[in-house]
Amino acid sequence: MEENSAGPIKSRAKLFPRCSICGLIPERGIRGGIRLKKGFICHACEKDIVSLTADTCLYEERKEKIKALIK
Ligand SMILES: [Zn+2]
Repeated sequence: MEENSAGPIKSRAKLFPRCSICGLIPERGIRGGIRLKKGFICHACEKDIVSLTADTCLYEERKEKIKALIK
């Protein structure tokens, strides 16, 4: 009986991954971002990273997070 309630939650988590950077779940689920080896990045964060220049500390911070995800 316990298994019954755990099932839907599991599949929902698969469909709607949480962004490893901002911690949000994109509205479009897996289509709303990129899947990495160990995580997921939503399109908003992807855009953010692309628009950041290498000399900002935010860039370094994001870069480290992504590095950890694709290790
Ligand atoms: Zn994000």
